[in-house]
Amino acid sequence: MMPLERLCCQNSKCAMYGRRGAENLSVCGWIDRRRTIRQLYCRLCKARFSERKGTPLYNAKLPAGKVVAILDHVREGCGVRQTGRLVGVSKNTANRYILLAGSHAKALHDELVAFSP
Ligand SMILES: [Zn+2]
Repeated sequence: MMPLERLCCQNSKCAMYGRRGAENLSVCGWIDRRRTIRQLYCRLCKARFSERKGTPLYNAKLPAGKVVAILDHVREGCGVRQTGRLVGVSKNTANRYILLAGSHAKALHDELVAFSP
């Protein structure tokens, strides 16, 4: 599981929105019956949300391993149709997760590469 220091409040109206390691989060329950996805609580804004919110896995119908397999195939240069065939999902499903991961990767890139030399 991801350490809480690497997660942040997902409430856009919260003062701690997007700030990692602020120690404002705690685990208050589980999202699924198998207890694999934690529900987080922000002490500042009192919001509760899934630890997957803001990621390509949020509300994913596929198992996380299959989503990772889709993204691994794309990373290795496979096309959308080929990825769908290899993973066993439709091309539309593969494309949906690829687009979600792409927008997430862009936001992460913008955060990590804030200053250009
Ligand atoms: Zn908050």
